Parts: sequence; C-alpha cells; structure tokens
Amino acid sequence: MARANKETKKKQTRKPKTTWKDQIKEQLLRMRKALLQEVSQSMRAESDHLKHDIGDFYDHASNDRDRELALMLADREREKLTLVDDAIKRIDAGSYGICESCDEEIDKERLSVMLFTKLCLSCQEDMERG
Ligand SMILES: [Zn+2]
Repeated sequence: MARANKETKKKQTRKPKTTWKDQIKEQLLRMRKALLQEVSQSMRAESDHLKHDIGDFYDHASNDRDRELALMLADREREKLTLVDDAIKRIDAGSYGICESCDEEIDKERLSVMLFTKLCLSCQEDMERG
C-alpha cells in the first residue's frame, strides 16, 4: 500500500510539449508576418513614386529604376510568401517533412536550414545530377 503511493507520484509537465514541427511553424508564421509587412511597405512606396512622377522629369530615370527594384523585391517577397504558406499548409496537413519524391522523412537538420524543401538530400542530389 505504502509502496503504491510512492509509484503514483509522477511529475506533471506543465507546458504542452512542442514538437520541432510546431517550432518550424512558429518560425514560418513569424516569417509570414514580416513578409506581409514588407510587401505592404513596398506597395506604399510604389504609390508614393507614382505621385512623385508628375512634374518630376529629371528624377524620372532613377524613379523608374527604384520602382522596378521595388516591384522586383515585392515579386520575390510574394514568391517567398507562397512558399511559407505552402509549408504551413503542409505542416497542418501532416505532410511536412516528407520527401515528395521517395516518401521518406526528410532529415530534421536539413529542414531546419531549408524550411521549404520538399526533397530529401539524396533525391535533391539525384535531381541536381540530372
Ligand atoms: Zn527523397
């Protein structure tokens, strides 16, 4: 009787256990937020440029280049946003971290540095070899 008492004494973990996928998801959500901010900022900059263009002939060339750069940046950010969204969806669906090509689990170390990868190292290498 006394013995049973001792054995039932268990340490309860207060925090819910977070998995490495939860951590990646959090990282992705943060990334997403930052990207959305950047995109809206460059869009705002873009509309500012349009206002400046009127009657600002001499600066026109550099404004054009700036605008092109802003648009290019926005494109890249949007592209990245798609990747982030896609990865979040895959985490929710449970398919994150599974190689698209061979259905094996992708190495966690690899995922932590390449959050958006859909291929394991050996499949990636196969692809690169052609
Ligand atoms: Zn693979």
